[in-house]
Amino acid sequence: MVSFEILPPLKGKTISSIYDHLDPLIEFKPAFINVTYHRSETMFKKKQDGTFEKVEVRKRPGTVGICAAIMNHYQVDAVPHLICGGFSKRETEDALIDLNFLGIDNVLVLRGDAPKNESSFEPEPDGNSSALDLLKQVRNLNHGIYQEEDIKNGGKTDFCIGVAGYPEKHFEAPNLETDLMFLKEKVDAGAEYITTQMFFDNQKYFDFVKLCRKHGIDIPIIPGLKPISNKKQMSILPKVFHVDIPTDLSSGIMKCRNDEEVEKLGTEWLIEQSRELKKAGVPVLHYYTLGKPRVIRNVVKELF
Ligand SMILES: Cc1cc2nc3c(=O)[nH]c(=O)nc-3n(C[C@H](O)[C@H](O)[C@H](O)COP(=O)(O)OP(=O)(O)OC[C@H]3O[C@@H](n4cnc5c(N)ncnc54)[C@H](O)[C@@H]3O)c2cc1C
Repeated sequence: MVSFEILPPLKGKTISSIYDHLDPLIEFKPAFINVTYHRSETMFKKKQDGTFEKVEVRKRPGTVGICAAIMNHYQVDAVPHLICGGFSKRETEDALIDLNFLGIDNVLVLRGDAPKNESSFEPEPDGNSSALDLLKQVRNLNHGIYQEEDIKNGGKTDFCIGVAGYPEKHFEAPNLETDLMFLKEKVDAGAEYITTQMFFDNQKYFDFVKLCRKHGIDIPIIPGLKPISNKKQMSILPKVFHVDIPTDLSSGIMKCRNDEEVEKLGTEWLIEQSRELKKAGVPVLHYYTLGKPRVIRNVVKELF
């Protein structure tokens, strides 16, 4: 089984860009399709008088609408990512109500990162401060408990809740053991599955699963997989996602003469990774498609 993760298109593009992206992949019958969430960014726009104005810009809006469109268009489950950053608990509740009305009952709850111009994550004054907090809010709604205290016997939602896990440790955690302790808290609070950060060395995933099991984390752990298709990613991926590129892969990439060769190598690497994971019986192979549906198609068609 496979699943795919997509980004909402940049503002100005239409839903057809999502269909163009997913059409080549849909024949592989994904179990679900995740849609990421991107908080607004603070930008400084130059005004006519030469001074600058601070504006909040959301470059990739539309997560909820895209999920509804995907479910309607392809009859495939869509999983919106929900983040804490930028939302009060009441706004989150309203978003959850929208999702419930749309029949979207599977969510991946995340804390989100700090905005680009800030050094650490700060929750909204009345917002959730961690994925665990957000998870508890969704779980409460599943029990009919709303933020509005005067709602008695509130309708119960039925969200299946996923959380993130990091085979190479979350970058803020002091060590993997501590990170796992916090992951266990999310599981104890009701997370039903874990989707991992991307990794390029399967051994890291296998070790992570083993450690999770040792810590009593017994829910499915879905491996997140991403193709490498250009040389720049050798430094960008470790910087942005805090993951290692194995030496065999990085030395192979360094020998490539152009990005076409890198894409070929990255595709072969991902096919091998996927084959081994499939053989090991992972629940689903989850591909971060991030603008590369053709590469993912080339990988998945070798496997299924
Ligand atoms: C599969 C996947 C999908 C993602 N999708 C998105 C997306 O769509 N949009 C987006 O903005 N970001 C996304 N992210 C990135 C994610 O938001 C960041 O990695 C963020 O920094 C952490 O989110 P989290 O849910 O893991 O946070 P948390 O689980 O809240 O953990 C954050 C940090 O706090 C630590 N921690 C947890 N509990 C405690 C505690 N009680 N005391 C002290 N420390 C604690 C953890 O060890 C960790 O270091 C995604 C990540 C993954 C792996």
